[in-house]
Amino acid sequence: MALPSLFLSHGAPTLALEDTAVTRAWAGLGASLAPRAVVLASAHWDTPGPTVTTAPRLATIHDFHGFPRPLYDIRYEPPGHAALAERVTTLLARGGFATEGDARRGIDHGGWVPLRFMFPDAKVPVVQLSIQSGRDAAHHLALGKALAPLRGEGVLVLASGGIVHNLRELDWQGTGGRVMPWAKAFNDWVAANVASGDEEALVDWLARAPEPRRAHPTPDHFLPFFVALGAGGFPGQRIDFGFDLGSLGMDAYAFGAA
Ligand code: ZN
Repeated sequence: MALPSLFLSHGAPTLALEDTAVTRAWAGLGASLAPRAVVLASAHWDTPGPTVTTAPRLATIHDFHGFPRPLYDIRYEPPGHAALAERVTTLLARGGFATEGDARRGIDHGGWVPLRFMFPDAKVPVVQLSIQSGRDAAHHLALGKALAPLRGEGVLVLASGGIVHNLRELDWQGTGGRVMPWAKAFNDWVAANVASGDEEALVDWLARAPEPRRAHPTPDHFLPFFVALGAGGFPGQRIDFGFDLGSLGMDAYAFGAA
C-alpha cells in the first residue's frame, strides 16, 4: 500500500508549544501513517535549484525572531538518511532535475513544528528537499511527480507551508471566529479544485484564484502544496483546520489516499 503524500500548513512557530485540534491531528497522522522515513519539502528552505540534506543528523534551526524563549530551547534532531538522499537525487534526475547535496543544513521550523507532534521521539529519518521560490507551481508539481515512487517504498512525502499566508494581514486579536473574506475565498477555491481534481486550475493559481497575491504576497508557503499534489495525485482529501489570527489558513491535504 502506497502512503499518501501530505501538505500541512505549519502555522505560527508558537504552535510547537501548544496542544490544539491541529497538533493532535498531526500526532494522529504520524501514528497512523508510520513511515520508515520522511522526505520533507518546507517553505523555509529556498534555494535556486533542488538541494537535499545529507547530514547524518539534522540540527534544529530556529529560523524566526522575537518569539518566547521556550521555543528556542526546543531541539528536534532526527537522523538523516544518506541512501534516501541518493534515491531522491536519482528520482529527480529521472524527472530532469539536477540535485545538489548539502551536508551542513539542518531542519527548519516548517519541518520540526509538525514533526515533533507526528514523531515525538525524532527517530524517523528525515531528508529535507529545498523549494525554489523563483520557480512556478508547475516546477514544484514536477518535483512531486518525480518523487511519487517513494510512496510505495514506505517513505512519506511531507510538504509544509501555508494554504493562506499573509503575515501583514494577521489579526492578532482574532483567534476565534471572524475570518477575513479574501482569505476564505482563496481557501475555498483551493478546496473546490482539489475536490474536482482540477490540476490545471490549481497550477494556474496566480491567474485563476481569487486575490492570489493577497493570499500569498510571496509564493514560498504555497509552492510546497504542489510538491505534495505531484507526489500523491488525486483524490485529495482536505483536512479542514480553519484559520488562526483571522487569515492564517491551517488546512492540510492528503493526496493519493485510496
Ligand atoms: Zn512558515
